[in-house]
Amino acid sequence: EQKSYDFDVVVLGAGPGGYTAAFRAADLGMKVALVERWPTLGGVCLNVGCIPSKALLHAAKVIEDAEEMHVAGISFGKPQIDRTKLLDWKSKVVGRLTGGLAMMSKQRKVEIIRGTGVFTSPHEIEVSDTATAVGQQSAPKSGGRKVSFANCVIAAGSESIRLPGLPDDPRIIDSTGALELDLPKRLLVVGGGIIGLEMATVYAALGTKVSVVELTDGLIPGCDRDLVRPLEKRIAKRYEQILVKTKCAKVEALKEGLKVTFEGEKAPEPQVYDKVLVAVGRSPNGKRINAEAAGVTVNERGFIPVDKQMRTNVPHIFAIGDIVGQPMLAHKASHEGKVAAEVAYGEKSFFDARVIPSVAYTDPEIAWVGLTETDAKAKGIDYEKASFPWAANARSLTLGRDEGLTKLLFDKQTHRVLGAGLVGPNAGDLIAEVALAIEMGCDAADIGLTVHPHPTLSETVGMAAEAFEGTLTDLY
Ligand code: FAD
Repeated sequence: EQKSYDFDVVVLGAGPGGYTAAFRAADLGMKVALVERWPTLGGVCLNVGCIPSKALLHAAKVIEDAEEMHVAGISFGKPQIDRTKLLDWKSKVVGRLTGGLAMMSKQRKVEIIRGTGVFTSPHEIEVSDTATAVGQQSAPKSGGRKVSFANCVIAAGSESIRLPGLPDDPRIIDSTGALELDLPKRLLVVGGGIIGLEMATVYAALGTKVSVVELTDGLIPGCDRDLVRPLEKRIAKRYEQILVKTKCAKVEALKEGLKVTFEGEKAPEPQVYDKVLVAVGRSPNGKRINAEAAGVTVNERGFIPVDKQMRTNVPHIFAIGDIVGQPMLAHKASHEGKVAAEVAYGEKSFFDARVIPSVAYTDPEIAWVGLTETDAKAKGIDYEKASFPWAANARSLTLGRDEGLTKLLFDKQTHRVLGAGLVGPNAGDLIAEVALAIEMGCDAADIGLTVHPHPTLSETVGMAAEAFEGTLTDLY
């Protein structure tokens, strides 16, 4: 029986996963609605994630680079920071992008439905007007507009994890609060992962005394230690304290500040901070959309299991992005979004990326893709390694930096690239070459024989491969 629905596809959530799915579906000729509770499109990434953080990181980099030019005889003096203007500039960057998305939706005739959506049946979502501010959660109301669909793509994303037992105090903030730059004298960042360290980079450059506390035995868990070391070395001088293998056990809200008690072998005495930024990870929004009404399985952590075509257990309902699992990254979400739209249209698409790159936009940047050396060792994988230190790269020296490192991992037999890690300025841009190499099944010679432009940081990738092949002759 052919039923008629309001839309061929309804996408729930307009983050990088959701808007990509909606646009792809519309480009394929389907009638599409995009449900979003925040006033602007773009989700966490554009509004309170990737983009505002990178704008602020650029400001931080300019300040630090300017300071470091004194060695070249150029001094600028102490930066004068106008917080209002800085926030305004950040908002303009974000606004251009979110505005661009609104325009692109219009061009594609994607209907934007404002409000919080919850499932009411396997073919219906109810959207209630909740006036939810960007970055905030919403409590759906009943009695909203009912929207029926042939296919649905769940792209409802994730939220910051709160540490249990912390007092309810405005001086305890998450990454969304941190982007407001209400600069404290002393800040404690709880969590030494990518998001925490990126915000630490911004605050330290803007003059805050920053400390970081991390539960595991090193910063940026999941990344090889040799890649993290140059960052650790640089921030050791700039930050007040970096505590690893240490737990933030208790926070007491006092008038004079937040008193933090630490636990661990090297735990210091309790300290008082003006603010505490909690950046201990993100949890999926799977339990907030009444998925049971549609019969969609949500696991106990709130993730929605999907297959390689991004289908949930209900074949006409798809899920993509942060809500389906790690890595919680925008570029994974958008690729998954395309697959979901194409499969809903009837194409035989699959999400089968060999690798997904990770980047910490700290200073120096750290980027890695594919197999890490830590994993290779743990799994007993037969690999060989080639490294190239940036101290031997001309471009790096012209930037006044020499601490970088490029590392490639190869299969011992075939010499195919298995993974790579880079640390140094712009490492995040450079990692794309290796991601392509892995997708294409390149071996060391393919990279070594590729002519890289001189003088660039990209030469370190070519030279690491040449070093592996034994054909490296000139360094600079
Ligand atoms: P989200 O971006 O989370 O979007 C979900 C959308 O759904 C939101 O707009 C939300 O309002 C809406 N929504 C949810 N529930 C409902 C509902 N019931 N009804 C209506 N609307 C709903 N990733 C990177 O790749 N690179 C980075 O540099 C990077 N930096 C980051 C920095 C920070 C500070 C943070 C917090 C995250 C960062 N991330 C980064 C992660 C990135 O933001 C996420 O991976 C990405 O946004 C996930 O996209 P998504 O489409 O799954 O969901």
